[in-house]
Amino acid sequence: MTSASTSDVYADVVVTVPSRGVDRAFTYRVPASLSTQVVSGVIVRVPFHGRELSGWVVAVHAFPPPALEASSIRDIVGVTGGQGLLPPDLQDVAQWMQSFYGCLLVEAFQAMVPEPVRAALGAKRARGEAGRIRVATLAPNFAISAFEQLAQRLGGDERQARRLVETLQARGAVPPAELLALAHARREILKRLHDEGFVRWRVQPPPSPGDDRRSAAATLGGAAVETLSPHQCKAVETIVGQAETGRARVVLLHGVTGSGKTEVYLNVLESVIARGRQGLVLVPEISLTPQAVDRYRRRLGDRVAVMHSGLTPSERVEAWWSLKEGRMAVGLGARSCVFAPMSDLGVVIVDEEHEASYKQEQSPRYHARQVAIRRAIASGATVVLGSATPSLESYYWAEQGKYALVEMPTRVEERPLPTVEVVSLQRRRRDGSVRALGYVLRERMAETLARGEQVMLLHNRRGFASFLICTACGHLPRCPRCEISFTFHASPARMVCHYCLYETSPPSSCQGCGGFEMTHQGAGTQRVEEEVMEAFPGVPLLRMDRDTTRQMSDHRRLLEQFANREAQILIGTQMIAKGHDFPDVTLVGVVLADTGLALPDFRAAERTFSLLTQVAGRAGRGRVPGRVVIQTYNPEHYAIRHAAAQGYGGFYAEELAARKELEYPPFTHLINVILSGESGADVERAAQAMGSRMRAQVAAMPCVLLGPAPCALPRIHRKSRWHLVFKCRQVQEIMPLIRTYLRENASAGVSAAVDADPMSML
Ligand code: ADP
Ligand code: ZN
Repeated sequence: MTSASTSDVYADVVVTVPSRGVDRAFTYRVPASLSTQVVSGVIVRVPFHGRELSGWVVAVHAFPPPALEASSIRDIVGVTGGQGLLPPDLQDVAQWMQSFYGCLLVEAFQAMVPEPVRAALGAKRARGEAGRIRVATLAPNFAISAFEQLAQRLGGDERQARRLVETLQARGAVPPAELLALAHARREILKRLHDEGFVRWRVQPPPSPGDDRRSAAATLGGAAVETLSPHQCKAVETIVGQAETGRARVVLLHGVTGSGKTEVYLNVLESVIARGRQGLVLVPEISLTPQAVDRYRRRLGDRVAVMHSGLTPSERVEAWWSLKEGRMAVGLGARSCVFAPMSDLGVVIVDEEHEASYKQEQSPRYHARQVAIRRAIASGATVVLGSATPSLESYYWAEQGKYALVEMPTRVEERPLPTVEVVSLQRRRRDGSVRALGYVLRERMAETLARGEQVMLLHNRRGFASFLICTACGHLPRCPRCEISFTFHASPARMVCHYCLYETSPPSSCQGCGGFEMTHQGAGTQRVEEEVMEAFPGVPLLRMDRDTTRQMSDHRRLLEQFANREAQILIGTQMIAKGHDFPDVTLVGVVLADTGLALPDFRAAERTFSLLTQVAGRAGRGRVPGRVVIQTYNPEHYAIRHAAAQGYGGFYAEELAARKELEYPPFTHLINVILSGESGADVERAAQAMGSRMRAQVAAMPCVLLGPAPCALPRIHRKSRWHLVFKCRQVQEIMPLIRTYLRENASAGVSAAVDADPMSML
């Protein structure tokens, strides 16, 4: 313990303890020896309740702490590093996240500076090779004949190996992550080439800005589109004009599928980079395909740092620092890339802004679109929200004038939107027929295949999977942990809980009545696949769902095979609906449009409309116009009618009226507080206590408290779950009350999760 003197400097430190009790900054004295290193944003080591912990410096000041604390003030022990790790704009965003999402400050900081970056801080200094990067090159003794021999042995992986070698021949030394993306190859193949001596690793300094590395990228054959359409020009002008003001602003780019939104993003990025600023592009994880990455790389060259889940920790660290130090101009990645450490952010592009995957479902439970907007406010950047089916919230704010609105109502080069046929399944059901492919869809498929074109079949089986049911007593086997109906898989026969992934074999007799009348109902993608193979024997097809895409690389491989026309039919879950551009797909079939409508969620109609519109947009992106067949039991539902007519405006008007009537977002905000624990009785008691206290507190405010009630999924992973839902005008009015309550009423065995603006209420 040290006594304070007038010349002392103090630092406010947020310690890395994940607890609501210490979710604030504590003041420490900065020893003279550390005074030059301790600045806002660095990570330090401090004593805390008898332990030594790490913490984040959020402020440094010369005024002494209040008298009471001064006597017990302690010294910072050491500096771990990370000069400027948390620039002021990100600190601002973290504070906003704490007040809006109710997360802990330290959770927000940790999301901003990923674990591998923190872990590498000490090591990086020790090695003294800050900024040096690892690259792959062809071995000096590379012999084509030896490679040919290896290629023979690679079987299905041969093409990837060839592309790797060709890319290295063309480009010399390439960082591994970039090489894999450019060559559309899996990491294992590159490793094999390395292990067999064809490829070497080398560590070298990063390229300096003067290097003309763009020419190398240009040889890969990406030229800019010759002329932008008038709508595209207008969009680029509006966005660039806005970016040049240097004032924060949100622009909603509403463009139908195929209207050329990506082309607009590329032009905006080029203009922002030309002015020496940086850009950030967020895409849904599922759209982060090699195809998509290539489009950005070809146009922007080596100045794009891609952050995807397949990076090794050291690649992640390198990508992070390359953006931080300004060596890369554009960060491209999924949700968490919204925290990329750009120092001079000019534009943030959120592609497919309506996508639910922008919401993180673990603490900190943030929405990347909202964080992007918040970050733009803190740093004076322009945000572009792009979508063919904007979220109701975004379109509403554009309509209200809070966001600028740019519309691109037609496809480029006047390509027509596809024609859509809605086929009612109602009659078929009375027939007792359970086939997945109705007459119309079969006919359209036959015509399309005969012309040599490609077909995509969407079968969204989540929430409507194949399941076992006893036809005698109606008993449904359920997961013992989650009380969710099992999904039935035919080969090999097994029952899977898709919430906790528990598996078991199907029972031979009914556990309800003891009879032997169990049958399975509903068609999973496997059943659809079987039916298609029967109807179109010999036509090569691919199936893409969670079972066939356990790894990110499977996902890539299937898309690549389909793009290469190795198959004529692609069957898949909603995974296939997003953003892929296959010019030879002229027919899209939706096996059952109703699956999403049944979900217990106020966004069910919006999600169904958006999914159907997006998947229909996959048809006819090349020169040949597309067709879409939608099969449904609800042909009159407004989400399906408007999706069939590709009419966003009509859907928006009906849905907005419904939201207003029911007081749902955008007219209110929801905050979902979920309590869970092993003892159902304890959880219920905690929920009731919180309910009665909070109900009294919010009584006089513009806020309604719903519940407490058991969650729609009352048990997950052996834990009971209850929730309370606050429906309010201003999240920031209610959140402090919730945080205070939870801090003061922590109960052992019951944990609380807070979800503001939840995307799922299960
Ligand atoms: P969106 O993202 O709006 O669905 P894309 O940007 O993917 O649309 O563009 C659809 C297709 O049209 C792509 O193949 C793209 O290369 C092409 N394209 C975009 N703009 C133009 C243009 N001005 N002229 C010709 N083709 C274009
Ligand atoms: Zn389960």
